[in-house]
Amino acid sequence: MHATQVTRSDFDRLMVPNYAPVDMIPVRGEGSRVWDQEGREYIDLAGGIAVNALGHAHPGMLEALTDQAGKLWHVSNVLTNEPALRLASKLIAATFADRVFFANSGAEANEAAFKLARRWAHDTAGAQKNQIIACTNSFHGRTLFTVSVGGQPKYSQGFGPALEGISHVPYNDIAALEQVISAETCAVVIEPIQGEGGVIPADHEYLAAVRKLCDQYNALLIFDEVQSGMGRTGKLFAYMHSGVEPDILTSAKSLGGGFPISAMLTRESIAAHFGVGTHGSTYGGNPLGCAVAERVLDIVNTEEVLRGVERRYQLLADGLMALSHDIPVFESIRGKGLLIGAVLSEAWRGQARQIQEAAQKEGLLVLQAGADVMRLAPSLIIPEADIAEALQRLRKALAGLAG
Ligand SMILES: *Cc1c(COP(=O)(O)O)cnc(C)c1O
Repeated sequence: MHATQVTRSDFDRLMVPNYAPVDMIPVRGEGSRVWDQEGREYIDLAGGIAVNALGHAHPGMLEALTDQAGKLWHVSNVLTNEPALRLASKLIAATFADRVFFANSGAEANEAAFKLARRWAHDTAGAQKNQIIACTNSFHGRTLFTVSVGGQPKYSQGFGPALEGISHVPYNDIAALEQVISAETCAVVIEPIQGEGGVIPADHEYLAAVRKLCDQYNALLIFDEVQSGMGRTGKLFAYMHSGVEPDILTSAKSLGGGFPISAMLTRESIAAHFGVGTHGSTYGGNPLGCAVAERVLDIVNTEEVLRGVERRYQLLADGLMALSHDIPVFESIRGKGLLIGAVLSEAWRGQARQIQEAAQKEGLLVLQAGADVMRLAPSLIIPEADIAEALQRLRKALAGLAG
């Protein structure tokens, strides 16, 4: 076999310029470390944006993938398959839900959720009940429906008319929702933790009050747990901290731990409105993706891993505050479990991208959530020694920036 040499500069020549990847190309990963083309090593606190729940090249995931790869890759939904049914049954056993729809990305799971909510309302109450209420600053994906529902206008502007029947209210503000919700509302959509919006958790009282309003107006409550789900917060799904159950929940990112798969979970009476032929996906429920996700779920949904998330949060949060004591970079640490937002102090505001780049030069991968928040979403099983070393590398990077 002969390899064609490619470099980062090829990206600018070959790819649609909608991304701005950093100036190295990773070629290999193991656990929470990755290596680039030059053999430089990095500690990964970005986790592929909250996707690599078990780090890189996890032996259990590799085994599930290769076992399935030797058996059956794809059959389409003209047929069902064993991994999809096993994964569905485990997701149902672990959550509020009793029905599952599989897709391939977070946006597609949300697309299914929004379509289902409208179809349910159409069938049960009539065509006028089609209003969807979402939150300012929320993120639900990049299809036209999901950018229309999302609360960041920069993602929907310039793409022609947005979808109609959608309104936005401030997050964590029950009075604002009370003003807008009506008998024509079919669904209220909430991220239990706003990820892209800056790692902002919803108050538990807020979620309980939203649930009450939804019940009062016969509207469905949709939790978008694409980023917050699958163990990320120390429980399998973030809603489990509040005790407030949704009617529809979407999961993606960590669900496949790096293999593209997503799921929409719901109750039986709602699911019934997606009858034969109403919705679908060629790849959705693909045996490879489901086999990998089943293994991820088996590993993540254990006391050991979930409790470990709490401990790792504490190590990171304490470390970041200690660091900030010496170099006053962060004004607060927010988020839950291993979805952490370190809010930049006034003097550092707007510099999240610079911090990300400086960290990379020191062998550390971090994320931003807007220009004012450094975001961390590492593997749920990142070794504690890697956390300690990551904090040292971050200190070095920040000291360099502070000059
Ligand atoms: C990432 C994300 C999405 C979109 O997922 P894709 O797989 O990129 O389509 C939707 N909702 C939330 C909360 C997300 O964090």
